[in-house]
Amino acid sequence: MANLDSDTITVTAPNGEDLVVAVKISGRAKRVGLRLDPAGDRAVLTVPWGAPLDRAVRFAQDQAGWLARNLAKQPQRIAFEDGAVIPMLGREIRVRHRPDQRRGVWLQGGEATLDGAPLPELCVSGEADHLARRVTDWLKRRAREEISPRARAHARALDRRVAKISIRDTTSRWGSCSSRAGLSFSWRLVLAPEDVLDYVCAHEAAHLVEMNHSPAFWRLVGDLVGDWEPHRRWLKRHGAELHRYG
Ligand SMILES: [Zn+2]
Repeated sequence: MANLDSDTITVTAPNGEDLVVAVKISGRAKRVGLRLDPAGDRAVLTVPWGAPLDRAVRFAQDQAGWLARNLAKQPQRIAFEDGAVIPMLGREIRVRHRPDQRRGVWLQGGEATLDGAPLPELCVSGEADHLARRVTDWLKRRAREEISPRARAHARALDRRVAKISIRDTTSRWGSCSSRAGLSFSWRLVLAPEDVLDYVCAHEAAHLVEMNHSPAFWRLVGDLVGDWEPHRRWLKRHGAELHRYG
């Protein structure tokens, strides 16, 4: 049985487990669809605007076996909490809660010693309740520090100006470029290797010249960062993993 309640429904997996599915009414969707969200820990049922909801719910229930199998296969979410290891610009850092300190959020250590090289620690003072938010805020700030100068430099190399740079928590795109020369980026790019982040900056800057993905566009990207294909492939292969954090 599937129960409809506001914006989520519950469907029953073959093993009897209840699975929560978010319902998204979409003006753009042409047909009913069921997918996992980019973080892979939640199912989303897309229903075209005006389509009969009971049919869509039945469709989700029919797919419950598929859904349960795929949810089970997904990597676990990694919460920002004491001890968590987070990738950042191709390195790893470890979150450390420092409730006794009053310094905010700071990165320390990571220097190699005779005993090896411990992970740098991202120390977070304050209450445990605020730790995840403070880590996220810090990473967003770092993302802006990394992305802004790169995107602007790439734009300059193409003789273009960036009107505005926004850092967002987008789930479907790593970056975008508006017709008014505004570039936006996902803060999660700071979790990717540096070259990959730089490639996305170049990609969006190149859209200031070519608002398409034509061969001319890719030539510009190549002029800016050289061989871009490995970076694009990296995002295809590992992009979803970056949504597991936080
Ligand atoms: Zn593009």
